[in-house]
Parts: sequence; C-alpha cells; structure tokens
Amino acid sequence: MTDSTTLRYRTRFAPSPTGPLHFGSLVAALGSYVRARRQGGEWHLRIDDLDPPREQPGAADAIQQSLQAHGLHWDGPVVFQSTRSAAYEAALAQLRAADRAYPCGCTRREIMAVARRGPNGPVYPGTCSDGLPPGREARAWRLRCDHAPLHFDDALQGPQSCDPAATIGDFIIRRADGYWAYHLACAVDDGEYGFTEVVRGADLLWCTPPQILLQRALGLPTPRYLHLPVAVNAEGQKLSKQSHAPPLDNNRAAHNLVQAARFLGQQPPADLARTGPGAVLTWALETWDEALIPRQQHQAPA
Ligand code: GLU
Repeated sequence: MTDSTTLRYRTRFAPSPTGPLHFGSLVAALGSYVRARRQGGEWHLRIDDLDPPREQPGAADAIQQSLQAHGLHWDGPVVFQSTRSAAYEAALAQLRAADRAYPCGCTRREIMAVARRGPNGPVYPGTCSDGLPPGREARAWRLRCDHAPLHFDDALQGPQSCDPAATIGDFIIRRADGYWAYHLACAVDDGEYGFTEVVRGADLLWCTPPQILLQRALGLPTPRYLHLPVAVNAEGQKLSKQSHAPPLDNNRAAHNLVQAARFLGQQPPADLARTGPGAVLTWALETWDEALIPRQQHQAPA
C-alpha cells in the first residue's frame, strides 16, 4: 500500500451538479483549497455527475464559473465521474472475482420491512448474501461488509471507530437503476487519482468507513480524511438545494470568502470583504490557523 505521508499533498473538491454552489459548498471548497495550497499541494476539481435524475442542466458549468469567480483555481483537468464507468466496471469485476460483491434481488419495500434501522439508514440483513433466492433477478450489487471494527483518525474530528457490520451492513455499490453508487465511485476515484487526503463536510463522515472498506477490498490506497464543520440554516438543516440554500452571488466573491473564512473560525479584517477574491485568498494563505477551525456544525451567516 502507498504511504500517503511521503507523497506530495493532493486533495480534491467534489461537488455533485445538483445545483449552483451555495455557502456550504464554498466552506468545503475554501477549507480544502487553503489546506492544499498552504502545503504547496494540489487542489483538484471532480464533478460527481453520477445521478442524472438529481442533476440540474448547466450546474456543472455554473459550479466551475463560481469557483473561478472566487479565485479558487484548480489543478489539471476537471474529472467528470460520468466518464469513469470503465473504472467502476473493472472495480465491480474485481470485487466479484474475489467474492466481495454479490447481486441483490430485494426491492426497497422488502428491505424496509425487515432491515434494522442503523444510524444512517436501514442495515441490510443479508437476504441475498448466499445467492439470489429462486426466481429472483439481480437488481443491485452489494459489497460484503467486514466484520472487524474499523478505525481512522480524522485530522479535525479526531479518532473515529465504526463497526461496519452493525451500522452499515452490506451496502450498495451499483444501484438497481443501473447507476453507480456514490461510495463505489468515490472510493475508486479517491484511490486511483492518488489523493493523499480527502477534505469535505462532516455530513459525509459516516461515508468514510464504507469507502475505506472498498479501497481495502480493491487494494487501493486510502487517503487521510478531514471533515469540516457543516453549515446549517436557522432551522438547523444542512444548507443544500433541498433546504433552499441560496446560490452564491459571484459578484460578492470577496465578501463570500470572508464569511466562509469566519465560518471556519478565522478572523479576517472586515475591510477585506471590500477587496477582491485574490486579496482574501492571499490573506488566508498567509494567516490561516487550522487550530481555530471548529469541529461542530453551526449556523451560516444570514
Ligand atoms: N459529491 C458528493 C457531495 O457533494 C460527495 C463529495 C465528497 O466525497 O467530497 O456531497
């Protein structure tokens, strides 16, 4: 396995094109960008366009324009997950050959009727793990989960442990509608592109154990992880398209960056908001103090 500590720092920002960027996405983008650039590392952009029914036409372009308007320039070409099917197919074939993946014929309704409720949704009881019941056709593909406890040390949230069999169960890696599941695509891409660290919002902390399990099963390197605090609205909901988070106003880029820096515990001088994004980023790269970043979710500025 590759020892990520000896490699040049390399991370990514990986939005799903379900809508334009909002303040919550800017926090993740800025947090990962500053962490990479302060170490002289690379910051890449991956568009997680794996779920066409949830995507919004033009969102991938709007996201790129918004990042550029905020001075958040990425390294190398943008990676679109929709172009990566061959890699995901190969991963599934490898998992099947090792008997780590199996087809599942259960419908959602059947699973809901028998599954235990885990902290992040139903825990599949393994109905199809010894073979499809007679007369059943494969709908989805699942990973045979490990029974050993899994530990990792998050660079901000601290030591984490998880009992995958109890809390996650055999999870879906290819969906019944034929689309690739986020865990599979993310684990393959984070491993194959050699990211040394994944920096993202703490709403995705629970996704790390399944993604580590997949990387181990595929013999891919596992990056380090840092999960940033999540921005919530006055009702305590995560900012998202579903919670009607307003899109970022690209004409107020410096102001937005100052707010995102404050959200991450930094203390930018007030007049920076009246400059341009370049000046805010220069200030951030010079003065950023990671020890000030809070762990917990909190409210975005109104
Ligand atoms: N594309 C997913 C999201 O926007 C995951 C991103 C990630 O793994 O960083 O929530």
